Amino acid sequence: MLVVMRRDAGPEQVQAVIEAIEALGYEARPMAGRQRTAVGLVGNDGRVDGTRLASLEGVQEIIHVTQPFKLVSREWKPEPTVVQLPGGLTIGADEVPVIAGPCSVEGEAQILRAAHAVKDAGATLLRAGAFKPRSSPYSFQGLGKAGLAMLATARRETGLLIVTEAVDPEGVDAVAEVADIIQVGARNMQNYSLLRRAGQAGKPVLLKRGIAATIQELLLAAEYLLAEGNADVILCERGIRSYDTQTRNLLDLSAIPTVHALSHLPIIADPSHGTGRRDMVPSMARAAVAAGADGLLVEVHPNPEQALSDGTQSLRVEQFEQLMPELRAIAEAIGRRIAEPAAVRA
Ligand code: PEP
Ligand code: MN
Repeated sequence: MLVVMRRDAGPEQVQAVIEAIEALGYEARPMAGRQRTAVGLVGNDGRVDGTRLASLEGVQEIIHVTQPFKLVSREWKPEPTVVQLPGGLTIGADEVPVIAGPCSVEGEAQILRAAHAVKDAGATLLRAGAFKPRSSPYSFQGLGKAGLAMLATARRETGLLIVTEAVDPEGVDAVAEVADIIQVGARNMQNYSLLRRAGQAGKPVLLKRGIAATIQELLLAAEYLLAEGNADVILCERGIRSYDTQTRNLLDLSAIPTVHALSHLPIIADPSHGTGRRDMVPSMARAAVAAGADGLLVEVHPNPEQALSDGTQSLRVEQFEQLMPELRAIAEAIGRRIAEPAAVRA
């Protein structure tokens, strides 16, 4: 339930609403919007009588949030969330950042080569996993903390912001020290202890859609992060399991306008895991920008044949260099623009 205050409501009237909600035994969340202040009532089990709150001074209306997800819903917050990153970079506004880099950190020389290459082509954030959640326990599991240190070096050398994954609650703090955005991967979308810990880490979180998750389940997973007080959440469509084996996954681009309709959170697209095929990544990257994605996550490797993970879906540097101007043209056609490197603007 959302108690919307009148435009001219004073702080003491807002405070009276907060106290009334708390007296009913619920949590109150004041939210100062551009147009008006609203006070959210968290934990409504259907027993709250809205008329008691509606009669308080300064209250304009009571909105019942009909979706099972609350803090994440558009009903709760009509304006889009714009995640602010260091260097003035944003996700969720007009600019569309491109997050690029190899699937995994494989060594210092590899990550630095990749970082310089994607930066020169116009990426604003570097992605690479130091901790890798692999389908097989015998596959490369990542370099762990040593990999995080290499990402920190890449950030210092290039000014690119870092997106890297946390795979368990215990690892979140170490990742948060280096990452500008903490990634929660598809396999962990419903790892609720990880979500809770990531929600407390004080860094934006990139939450990838689970392999067989509905959009509602994705939004409910995001609700865990917001419920911990972290409003800086970016969703990611990375493809869902389908019956067709031509592509690794089925990249559900309709999830982008669906999420925009249901939620104020930004959503980016990952055409690399979405297709699993290098030859298809550019077309789906272009389509995702056209569909309104708030950013892209693209795997790029300086030498994909030698990659320790996801080589077959990683773009070659030349392919990425060719893709970037195409993305710029598409973004411009729909009134947006591909973000400029944060290091340049800083
Ligand atoms: C990744 O980004 O490399 C990754 C493991 O992605 P996902 O969780 O979407 O499979
Ligand atoms: Mn990968």
